[in-house]
Amino acid sequence: MKDFIEGVWHPVIDEDKCTNCDFCYEFCPKGVYTKDNEKVVVENPSSCVDGCHGCEWQCPSGAIRFPEPITKEYVTKVIRWSKKKNKEVSSKFLDYVLKNQIIEECEINRETKA
Ligand code: SF4
Ligand code: SF4
Repeated sequence: MKDFIEGVWHPVIDEDKCTNCDFCYEFCPKGVYTKDNEKVVVENPSSCVDGCHGCEWQCPSGAIRFPEPITKEYVTKVIRWSKKKNKEVSSKFLDYVLKNQIIEECEINRETKA
């Protein structure tokens, strides 16, 4: 799993920086990471929680990055993608974007109902 998946929040490991310390693998409660021949890899990107940066903050090498900054356009894309996949957008993520005034509540409602 090397490339970003459009509209899906998930980590990508920079293999040049990764030291295989396992911190992200041991930290993530969602089973996003697995071990492949002793190497940590992103196995289940769609299990990642929208807006979560937990493993990134654990990584001592700065080897983890995410698809794109959380902008209004990104939030809209996540909502549309989730609708298409019949998935709920996590309330944690929506709380985060509202708290940081990235998007207005009425716009979220409009996208959710559209
Ligand atoms: S961002 Fe959170 S949910 Fe996603 S892989 Fe990292 S720790 Fe797991
Ligand atoms: S925490 Fe960072 S350095 Fe350690 S295995 Fe994960 S990506 Fe690699």
